[in-house]
Amino acid sequence: MTTNAGKNEAIPYLDLVAQMRPLRKEIDAAIARTLDNCSFCLGPDVAQFEKDFARFCASEHCVAFNSGTSALHVALLLLNIGDGDEVITTPSTFVATSWAISYTGAKPVYVDIDEATFNLDPALVERAVTPRTKAVMPVHLYGHPANLDPLLAACRKHNLALVEDAAQAHGAIYKNKVVGTFGAVSGFSFYPGKNLGAYGEGGALVTNSGAFAARARALREHGSTQRYYHDEIGFNYRMEGIQGAVLGVKLKHLDAWTQARRNVAHRYHQLLASTPLQLPREADYAQSAWHLYVVRHPRRDELKKHLEANQVGCALHYPLPLHLQKAYAHLGYKPGDFPVSEKAARECLSLPIYPELTDAQIQRVAAVVQDFFKAH
Ligand SMILES: *Cc1c(COP(=O)(O)O)cnc(C)c1O
Repeated sequence: MTTNAGKNEAIPYLDLVAQMRPLRKEIDAAIARTLDNCSFCLGPDVAQFEKDFARFCASEHCVAFNSGTSALHVALLLLNIGDGDEVITTPSTFVATSWAISYTGAKPVYVDIDEATFNLDPALVERAVTPRTKAVMPVHLYGHPANLDPLLAACRKHNLALVEDAAQAHGAIYKNKVVGTFGAVSGFSFYPGKNLGAYGEGGALVTNSGAFAARARALREHGSTQRYYHDEIGFNYRMEGIQGAVLGVKLKHLDAWTQARRNVAHRYHQLLASTPLQLPREADYAQSAWHLYVVRHPRRDELKKHLEANQVGCALHYPLPLHLQKAYAHLGYKPGDFPVSEKAARECLSLPIYPELTDAQIQRVAAVVQDFFKAH
């Protein structure tokens, strides 16, 4: 596709090709280096990326994984969370947040979200604490930081750990500090569509604890620090060498990409301000990483059809909250338990947002949205 959006040109919801094209030579060289030294699992490029990403997060340690889900799973294991424990979290997220809890044998305990930011409502967290609660797991959803100070206060009061799911929020800022080190451990995803995406699966945990980092390295590699000697039951959760090489190239561009995402969001704010849509806003404590630009409207389904009919890509994040998923039926929740999350699921619509989106494309998206409200 060309970069200039003509009147009826299709606008993809996500355009990974546009991001890869200018990096292609550097990426080819990085992959060739991995092939030359045959370091396919972990290896020097992964080790270098870990150092670079730790610095990016202003964290002491980064441990690379084969996915964000694995990183979050191990993050909870480091806190010795397991059978019979409870972790308070949000039903309004990608399901992997809750998988990580379930994989340990613990139970996700949901509380509703805050209407303005789609994130865990700190005022509701304390009411969900029981003697079995071990941790609180907020998600920085769509790249917007959860309100961490009141969550941390609740954790201190009840002696709970805080684990950030930062899978969508690389470089997001909460009160002048990048997210990822507010809790004991946090997890990031490098799934291709994330703000920092590998060319395959990838993830990482970051922590300021040397002991946690060392145990995380062992757990991702079959529970061993010495080959063929296994101190505890572990996993094959290693990052591939090629992904470390690709991520090393891409990390250098992340700040510029985040700024470009901010600019896209700013343009949408301007162009959509006069529509009846509820637009996403940053809380005064936050700088979002703008992973997604999620608008809300009661007639979301019709608007979605209108955008699709006009070849404007859009998506739903997420159409069914986790407490209503079949996989979690055994938890015993029912419709109406978390009304803010359920309403968000009915009304949300994600518009295209990525660093390469041109102003002409942004204007066309906005024009198609405006048409909908003129015609309806
Ligand atoms: C993407 C994502 C994950 C999981 O990451 P993977 O790398 O796909 O395993 C976890 N939580 C959230 C909120 C995500 O968006």
